[in-house]
Amino acid sequence: MLKVVKFGGSSLASAEQFARVKAIVESDPDRKVVVVSAPGKRFKEDNKVTDLLYICHAHIKYNASFDDVFEDIAERYRQIAAGCGLKQDLEAEFAAMKQTMNKAASVDYIVSRGEYLNAKLMAEYLGYTFIDSKDWLFFNYDGKVDFEKSYATLHELFAHAKRAVIPGFYGSMADGDIKTFSRGGSDVSGAIAAAALEADAYENWTDVSGILMADPRIVENPRPIEQVTFSELRELSYMGADVLHEETVFPVRQKNIPLYIKNTNEPAARGTLILEDFETESEEDKKRFVTGITGRKHYSILTLTKARMNSEPGFIRHALKIVEKYGVIVEHITSSIDSFSMVVSTAKVESCLHDMTEELQTVLSPDRIKVDHGISLVAVVGRRMASNVGVSGRLFATLGACDINIRMIEQGADEINIIIGVQDRDFKKTIRVLYDSFT
Ligand code: ASP
Repeated sequence: MLKVVKFGGSSLASAEQFARVKAIVESDPDRKVVVVSAPGKRFKEDNKVTDLLYICHAHIKYNASFDDVFEDIAERYRQIAAGCGLKQDLEAEFAAMKQTMNKAASVDYIVSRGEYLNAKLMAEYLGYTFIDSKDWLFFNYDGKVDFEKSYATLHELFAHAKRAVIPGFYGSMADGDIKTFSRGGSDVSGAIAAAALEADAYENWTDVSGILMADPRIVENPRPIEQVTFSELRELSYMGADVLHEETVFPVRQKNIPLYIKNTNEPAARGTLILEDFETESEEDKKRFVTGITGRKHYSILTLTKARMNSEPGFIRHALKIVEKYGVIVEHITSSIDSFSMVVSTAKVESCLHDMTEELQTVLSPDRIKVDHGISLVAVVGRRMASNVGVSGRLFATLGACDINIRMIEQGADEINIIIGVQDRDFKKTIRVLYDSFT
């Protein structure tokens, strides 16, 4: 068996956290590949090393001295190394790093050093081989990962290493230049490593005990989700659940590798398992139709009304074309015989609303165009909703009983989600009452 385990920044923020990681890795001999982030925050007001490296880059760009910030970074690593009793020559690493940090150095190179150094320390601490991600994770010129070459290269490097620590977040271009993913990208590096090595599992260790059924800032102590499918996860993430970097899923899903979310600070907790499908549902999950509830605020609904719209061919197509011209993405569409509504992000539509509605009026001559701002979308997601009668009935009854006015309803044809539009002021209340009703 082979497990690829990725630890996030908060799991690696200090020597104490390093010790927890070591205990977790050593408790399972299958945990042969460890992917690390840069040290994150140790407490709320602390800085992430990656953020400090971005600040170094800004100083370099404006010809300001970055010595103080660099010293803060160096101190973080010195403390980890001392706390873990590591012997490698960090000062030589810092000197080499500082020498290359000049105007010619790219921002990607500079910020990648956070993961690089952390992986070097972790490799010594575990007695694993360090595999630099510049030597296996390759990007094409269009900025996309060259999966084939990356998979083949890591496969070969790992065959010699047997056990390895790999820095997350970056790889290299064909010319050898370092390139990073967007922020939070170590999740993606771990997923690519797991796919490359056809791992039996990809474990993503963080500081929460799995994906929660609802946002803990809205619902007090929400339950963790034990099992979630990739499709459900996509719905939940798109609608606001902040879980994994969105590019994480593709490599592991393609190779059908189980993805776990686990808590470094509570390793015994079950966490969340993400798979394509579940043959057997856990006892806990069987009791619930709903996997998770999430949502986003600040949408607008544009409604076009025109008598006999239903007999005017191409009306909706023309309307969508005009909206597309302004670069606005239509999130949802609902229609009745003589009216048609589009839900769009308020932020995206604000600057062009006047011109766009004027054009819709000129081209399509509707009887009326109405714009409602202040709409929230709430998504109720659950694979078991498809096979159960009465979920939507219960949902609407609950909202009605709580005096929440529903402005829009949409259910995907695969029946894994129901999306409802409510006023922004009812956003939190909607999530809370639905959570209470479905758990
Ligand atoms: N260290 C990087 C960041 O802070 C990448 C990561 O942690 O995944 O975004």
